[in-house]
Amino acid sequence: MKSGTASSPPFVPDVFNRRDRLEIKTPAQIEAMRRAGLVVASVLDLVVAQIAPGITTAELDQIAAAGIRAAGALPSFLGYHGFPACICVSVNDEVVHGIPGARTIEAGDLVSVDCGAIVAGWHGDAAVTVAVAATEADQALLLATEEALWAGLAVTQIGAKVSDIGAAVEASVRAAGPYGIVEEFVGHGIGTAMHLPPDVPNFGAPGRGPRLVAGLALAIEPMVTAGQRWVQVLEDEWTAVTADGSKAAHFEHTVAITEEGPWVLTAHDGGAARFAALSVPSPAARRA
Ligand code: MG
Ligand code: MG
Repeated sequence: MKSGTASSPPFVPDVFNRRDRLEIKTPAQIEAMRRAGLVVASVLDLVVAQIAPGITTAELDQIAAAGIRAAGALPSFLGYHGFPACICVSVNDEVVHGIPGARTIEAGDLVSVDCGAIVAGWHGDAAVTVAVAATEADQALLLATEEALWAGLAVTQIGAKVSDIGAAVEASVRAAGPYGIVEEFVGHGIGTAMHLPPDVPNFGAPGRGPRLVAGLALAIEPMVTAGQRWVQVLEDEWTAVTADGSKAAHFEHTVAITEEGPWVLTAHDGGAARFAALSVPSPAARRA
């Protein structure tokens, strides 16, 4: 069989490097995404400030809804595959995708809030977990998860491969303790939609997947448990809980890859402080 004509290039298997599937943004488009990112950062601040014993998760959602609309943004979660709220609130053994409702926050709870907003068609997506009257073990889990997120963000550099991020996240978690890393849910590309290629797992070997290029934006979001990594989805078809009932934490940021390094669009300072501490070059210090 002939391999092609002079006008058709030879077929090259390119399973792990399909650049054409990736949405590459211009610098101006990344600036537009920054506006969505800052809305998400501010709304998460608003919600987190109200997390205390006695408040319901539905009330936290109302705070988020008001904050998103006051900023002139749209809530990307509301109606997404039928999701009925503007944020996900996942408590204790709930890992992600908890639906706000009548549940009342209590002392000792670990509360994850995940928020997405759209500004002028561009998406931001971030999550944070906070402890209400935290135990030492809770604090250690939060620290391990947030540090793993920043370990992943730090390697989000031009020339790196997508799986370098998961490898960095996993190495950070493993160094922190005997935690579980959830594999069923992963980070993702982001831009004109909340979920774009590529998938960004939180585990695995480095050196695989698409090569990172300037203008690519990713949501990196480690989900770490105090026990085993296994999760199951409740009958509401959204809420993912740990199979062993252990508590879980979830931290997420949207990051853009730029010529000057990673720019964390959903961090108020763009990542400046964290990257300075990690000695990672970033445009954040200049732009913060
Ligand atoms: Mg999210
Ligand atoms: Mg996400």
